[in-house]
Amino acid sequence: MQCPSASFRATPAALTVKPRLLRHTLLFLSLVLLMLGIGYIGYNLSEQSGIRALRVNGERQLELHARAVESEINRYTYLPSLLELENSVSHLLLNPTPYRRTLVNDYLEGLNRRSGNRAIFLLDTTGRVLATSNWRDADSFLGEDLSFRAYYQEAVHGRPGRFYGVGSTTGEAGYYLAHGLRYQGRIIGVAVVKVKLEALQERWEKARLQAFVSDENGIIILSSDPALRMKAVRPLSAEDKERLARSLQYHWWALNEWEPRSREVLGDGLEAISFAASDQSSEVAYLAQTRTLNDTPWHFTLLSPLTDLRREAMIQGMLAAVGFAFLAFLLIAWNERRKVIATRLAAREALLTANNELERKIAERTADLRASNARLLDEIRERKQTEDNLRKAQDGLVQAGKLAVIGQMSTSIAHELNQPLAALRTLSGNTVRFLQRGSLDTASTNLAAINELVDRMGRITASLRAFARRSDDHGQARLGKAVDAALFLLHARLERTPLTLHRDFGDVLLAIDQTRLEQILVNLITNALDAMSGQPDCQLWLDGRIDGQTYRLQVRDNGPGIDPANRVHLFEPFFTTKPGETGLGLGLTLSASLATAAGGSLAAHHPETGGTAFELSLPLLESTDSTASPTP
Ligand code: ADP
Repeated sequence: MQCPSASFRATPAALTVKPRLLRHTLLFLSLVLLMLGIGYIGYNLSEQSGIRALRVNGERQLELHARAVESEINRYTYLPSLLELENSVSHLLLNPTPYRRTLVNDYLEGLNRRSGNRAIFLLDTTGRVLATSNWRDADSFLGEDLSFRAYYQEAVHGRPGRFYGVGSTTGEAGYYLAHGLRYQGRIIGVAVVKVKLEALQERWEKARLQAFVSDENGIIILSSDPALRMKAVRPLSAEDKERLARSLQYHWWALNEWEPRSREVLGDGLEAISFAASDQSSEVAYLAQTRTLNDTPWHFTLLSPLTDLRREAMIQGMLAAVGFAFLAFLLIAWNERRKVIATRLAAREALLTANNELERKIAERTADLRASNARLLDEIRERKQTEDNLRKAQDGLVQAGKLAVIGQMSTSIAHELNQPLAALRTLSGNTVRFLQRGSLDTASTNLAAINELVDRMGRITASLRAFARRSDDHGQARLGKAVDAALFLLHARLERTPLTLHRDFGDVLLAIDQTRLEQILVNLITNALDAMSGQPDCQLWLDGRIDGQTYRLQVRDNGPGIDPANRVHLFEPFFTTKPGETGLGLGLTLSASLATAAGGSLAAHHPETGGTAFELSLPLLESTDSTASPTP
């Protein structure tokens, strides 16, 4: 399978890694930002919904407690006007006498005790206190000029006087209700009731309610938190401060401003206020709901703590962020898994395609191979046929070659045989004549010579017959066995010769008839022995080596070597340098012919170190001996 080279263009590792790292970092940062954003949104939504719920609940509470304050205030509004009905009061105002004053003092004292107020007192039209419920007390108002009080000024003009202030004599805060007392349509005095409102504060404290009431000047006159009392809920101008200080409404209170850390208007009468906690390090936040109190210019404010709500909103925000992170993690994991599955599927798909392709190719190749196999079988058959034909032709040729050699030699053979024949004719004729003369000794000498000549002729014809024999050109021979047989044949001669034999060849199987190989070896060894005869030190080397499909055996001696003039004639028939009748001159010729007939060769070498080496090369059939030295 071939890979598309274009899709695998080499990219430096650093360039492939960096964008991925950058992408992952950006993804991580955007996820963190999204997480923070979702956390913030979660926090805001939770806070808003919490504020809504708190607001609804707070509105109910506000209404409830504002009404409680209203009823507390209104409970005594009728009380000053009651004094109009009391004759002793009007008598005192019209004509003040000590007796009448005592009478009214007692009356007011009793009334005040029953109504449970701070004080009830009576002013004349000049604003001086004529009678009071606390006439017995050391800090009694009796005789005091209260004309500067706003409630007096309102009431003396026939309007209801409503006023919250701190008593200039007692220093006690209270709600002053004043009413102008009429006699025959004319205002003859003012009746004032000073109402205690501290009970409201105590009730709020008990109910753990955080609330306050601010008056028309924005001063907190009632508060569940004592620290807030007499603080201004809005900034006071210097003139206002001056005016209020002069009016002594709040006695000598500093009238500091209530200073929240932050103040956010959320709606009509709705604010989120935060201010430092008592330890100054943290912050407390409240939802402030304000409502006007009926029949007064006052405002009632309810404070609902936002701390719990904000903590809950924070938890909700964190939960939203964590939920988002978890969801994002799941999404990323799912996406990664999807990618892995897609990659695996693609890989499987590719593998399947490759497999199919491979199978298709294998099928194609198998078909091709089958076809070429069939072709090869046909070829082999044809080759075998041709080989058989060739072998037959070769056999014929070899035989023809041999016969041709014999033909070539025929002149020499004829010459070789004619000489002894001529000698035989002469000798036999002579012998007959010697026998007729009775010269038996000479006749027997001649007969012995005739015998020798016949032997020689027999040996010549035997050699030629063995050479011309048709069979066994393609036999098999074991080299070791052939060497041993040759040495055995020559053992009588070897016993006479002081020879050192060096054997270095493998036990190989060669493609030649066993007897022919022995015949070649006998010729070569005999020649070597002949050459070395008379030498004191005779060395014979039989060295074999594998050369591809051929085995080369070298038969080398340390004899005198061959005269360069004779070297070219070595393989000619009947060439011999051996004296007398010892050499036939057929050994090398026939050996070379036998080697050639077996598909090999025989060649002579003349080492510079001396001696002669004949190299017999024959086709190798099998090499089982590990000692056989292979060709380098
Ligand atoms: P013959 O042995 O009958 O002479 P060959 O054909 O075997 O016939 O040898 C031809 C001649 O080659 C020998 O007479 C000899 O002169 C020469 N010759 C053969 N082998 C050797 C040898 N190993 N050393 C020297 N000369 C040799």
